[in-house]
Amino acid sequence: MSTTDIVIVGAGPAGIRAAQTLVAYGEQPCLIDESARGGGQIYRRQPANFKRPAKAVYGFEAAKAQAVHATLDGLGGDIDYRPETLVWNAEQHALDTLAHGVAAQVRYKQLIVATGATDRILPVPGWTLPGVYSLGAAQIALKFQGCAIAERVVFAGSGPLLYLVAYQYARAGAKVLAVLDSAPLSAQTRALPALLGQPATLAKGLYYRAWLTAHGIPVHQRAELRAISGQQRVSGVQWREGEHMHSLDCDAVAFAHALRSETQLADLLGCRFTWSPLNRAWLPVRDDRGRSSVEGVYLAGDGAGIMGADAAEMAGELAALTLLGDCGQHIDETRVGHLQRKLDAIQRFRRGLEIAFPFPEDWATRAPDAMTICRCEEVSAGDIRQTVAEGHWELNRVKAMCRVGMGRCQGRMCGLAAAEIVAQASGRDIASVGRLRGQAPIKPLPFGVDAER
Ligand SMILES: Cc1cc2nc3c(=O)[nH]c(=O)nc-3n(C[C@H](O)[C@H](O)[C@H](O)COP(=O)(O)OP(=O)(O)OC[C@H]3O[C@@H](n4cnc5c(N)ncnc54)[C@H](O)[C@@H]3O)c2cc1C
Repeated sequence: MSTTDIVIVGAGPAGIRAAQTLVAYGEQPCLIDESARGGGQIYRRQPANFKRPAKAVYGFEAAKAQAVHATLDGLGGDIDYRPETLVWNAEQHALDTLAHGVAAQVRYKQLIVATGATDRILPVPGWTLPGVYSLGAAQIALKFQGCAIAERVVFAGSGPLLYLVAYQYARAGAKVLAVLDSAPLSAQTRALPALLGQPATLAKGLYYRAWLTAHGIPVHQRAELRAISGQQRVSGVQWREGEHMHSLDCDAVAFAHALRSETQLADLLGCRFTWSPLNRAWLPVRDDRGRSSVEGVYLAGDGAGIMGADAAEMAGELAALTLLGDCGQHIDETRVGHLQRKLDAIQRFRRGLEIAFPFPEDWATRAPDAMTICRCEEVSAGDIRQTVAEGHWELNRVKAMCRVGMGRCQGRMCGLAAAEIVAQASGRDIASVGRLRGQAPIKPLPFGVDAER
């Protein structure tokens, strides 16, 4: 068992900036991350022996990626950095970790949770076939390993990552057959006033889209992915566009509808949650300085609401400053105010993104009974509807009855989709069906774990 005063979980942009700020004030935090080399999702690093230049891996974000990596590397002996370490349980003042098959407990006085996000998945028939990936997973294959998920790929869903990953694949030499965006072009036009608040980010998004069109890659708007077909693996997709159904042969599909926050640790820590209409999700409450509802626990980055990488860096710094102030250190209040104003501006942009890429609210009505929602426990939309028909509508109760979200992923993949089906089948508002309570271990643990000596 080790005791460290301040622990940060997550070495993405939020966690790294938090660590940097703490070190600048003389602290020696412990920084824990399950990935090998830090950087988080957007600035995920390739293996040390890979030689691709930053520009080839991160494109327009190369300079920011290098700055974040240089910060982490520069912190060296000033922090207790623990890569390849999973935090699988959290309670007051103690985290349970697993690194290289060895379980340990890390005690803390203050904790910054910066656990980021993963894709939001709305299943379609065929989504469990080999050859189907989330957008994020497709990007990880390219960013981390320098390989594509297949030769001929269709990208579908909605959100900024859709265009970015399609662009990255096409630039890397993959054959991008089509981009199917469920959002109508009119929504993106309507969002322009809000998006103009962050002109550089908007320009990049427009560039990716224009580049795809200029290179002959068909981009379909208001195109709802309806099914993925294939026997042993993916061989094609079907989608609806206006009144018409279309189909296309392909070798792989990458799809997602934006991102969802990784909130399980905040949940296990007892943080209060509230419904966020903007994120269409239950999120841990944080005040405008990054404090959670639990004393000594701070929240930073996408793990407490999706705002993007620039905001994550600022939120990490802000949470660290707040923590230091709460511990009696004299902190730079001017800097705090500056960070808060910048975060407010990004939040306005975020609202614009939600207008541009609206959640497909009719998804649940279209989900056929036979479609698998929970892969781990093989629970279908029909199984969930049957459970609702038996009188259950609170999500944890539905889980107890039909096992949706009870498997290895603990509902991280299927929980949001299951909630949509429960809301639709019970005729209730999505916010009122509740949220799956976090349970340890939050991610699968192997058998035969050794205890730390
Ligand atoms: C797959 C993926 C790809 C993305 N790519 C882009 C992109 O190219 N461009 C873009 O603008 N945005 C991208 N985004 C969004 C972007 O990642 C985020 O806005 C940004 O990275 C948020 O920073 P963060 O520090 O909050 O979290 P993250 O960058 O997600 O970092 C969180 C870190 O916490 C670690 N972690 C989480 N849970 C645990 C745990 N229990 N134990 C130990 N460690 C843990 C993770 O390993 C991760 O390194 C992507 C998102 C995803 C999910």
